[in-house]
Amino acid sequence: MGTITMKFGGTSVGSADAMSQVMQIVADSLADGNRVAVVVSAMSGVTNLLLKTVEAAKTGDKWTYTEVSQEIREKHEEAAELLISDEEVRDQFIAKLDKMLEQHIELCTAIGTLGEVTPRIADAIVSFGERLSSRLISAAMKERNINAKQFDSSQFIITNHNYQDADPLWDVTEKNIREQLLPQLDEGIVPIITGFIGSTPDGVITTLGRGGSDFSAAIFAAYLDSDELIIWTDVDGVMTTDPRIDKRARVLPNVSYQEVGEMAFYGAKVLHPKTVQPIISQEIPLRVRNTFNPTHPGTLITATPTPSDTVIKAVTSIRNVSMLTVSGKGMLGVPGIAGRTFLATADSGASILMISQSSSEQNFCFIVTDGQADGVKGSVESELAKEIEDQDVDSVSITSDIVIVTVVGAGMRGTMGVAGRVFTTMGDNGINVLAIAQGSSECSISFVVNENDLEHAVSSLHELALQAVPA
Ligand code: ADP
Ligand code: ASP
Ligand code: MG
Repeated sequence: MGTITMKFGGTSVGSADAMSQVMQIVADSLADGNRVAVVVSAMSGVTNLLLKTVEAAKTGDKWTYTEVSQEIREKHEEAAELLISDEEVRDQFIAKLDKMLEQHIELCTAIGTLGEVTPRIADAIVSFGERLSSRLISAAMKERNINAKQFDSSQFIITNHNYQDADPLWDVTEKNIREQLLPQLDEGIVPIITGFIGSTPDGVITTLGRGGSDFSAAIFAAYLDSDELIIWTDVDGVMTTDPRIDKRARVLPNVSYQEVGEMAFYGAKVLHPKTVQPIISQEIPLRVRNTFNPTHPGTLITATPTPSDTVIKAVTSIRNVSMLTVSGKGMLGVPGIAGRTFLATADSGASILMISQSSSEQNFCFIVTDGQADGVKGSVESELAKEIEDQDVDSVSITSDIVIVTVVGAGMRGTMGVAGRVFTTMGDNGINVLAIAQGSSECSISFVVNENDLEHAVSSLHELALQAVPA
């Protein structure tokens, strides 16, 4: 018995059947005597559909955004018809659905008139996904005698103005959740809260970045003083690698916050990279479980790493990245070039995923997402204009069609020979490594390889991780 915050992802709320499963899980936990707070994603596919309307609106393509809005309406209406038998309750939900989608069309029309989108409007539009799914589930739960009440998280999670990837302002967010939401739990209410969404201090909707509902759930878990956070998704837990890349992937029974943080940062989609941040200090246990296989215990994530025989626990990868290389024979004598390069990168709004330097100090490289590469190159070139003119720096070049492949495991720290084994594996498999870096926490090693080598690199390194998990 205790307080449990649960988050259900897109597939878990993707249809009437899936939502029935969700309600069963919540009902079972309540029957066990728990207090339950529920955070939900948009129905699967809806966030992408909403983004599609933003694109269509930009070019004034009214036909497409109207059509897609209708598709979103039908998806929710169909689920409502299957889940809500009380006509009055259903009509109330449909009325809300219509009203929100009317607003959706109005926003699209405004974009069409202006001929441009701001991140602020895009956030207002994508927020409809979670705002609709939470209202639908809450209505359906009431019918099953669960004392559910819908909440928009924008009421609690206050963020900066960094639309589409906003960061919470912690103090006010904590205060809101403790003062406004905790009493609801005390009254026996089951809050059904939108994931993904926040708002600026002046009340404008923001979002926490793609996949951000995991992060939202962790924020609520922390300030509702939860005994456990459960991320319910569509696989049995955190796996040794992405099961879509290598079918041999197995569920890891235990992982540490740090390991899972590293896995998520380096591309494991199963959790948003910021998920563990809010729960680390209170050491709230995090479980990743399968909505469609609820008897499976899933993965338990806690502060303490569980040693594993093979040291390497998991392999992850990130696509759609580019490598920037700054090179020049004169660089050795000029101090501060790397520092200035990274500042110029930050100034252009990009964040660096990985940095690597060759021992000769005649070049160093770093990785950013594809979309940011050109902007970063321009920004670095203007910062280093004098060095380029003096020919101390020869060039700032971009290599695209590359990926990052990362091996993760806390046991790597201080274990001799792991790096060697990993490099040998790459060599034995004929994979050309373009750059290498060790994570600052020393629980990961990352490689840059050609995009064509991704599957081969992941499955070769995965062999090393598989030896640790019983079949
Ligand atoms: P949700 O909608 O529940 O948030 P996501 O699609 O965001 O679910 O994340 C779950 C998916 O992440 C899985 O279906 C799986 O394909 C993918 N995935 C990638 N890497 C891993 C991994 N290491 N372990 C588990 N799942 C992974
Ligand atoms: N619906 C949002 C997305 O698709 C947030 C989430 O599901 O976590 O990115
Ligand atoms: Mg997700």
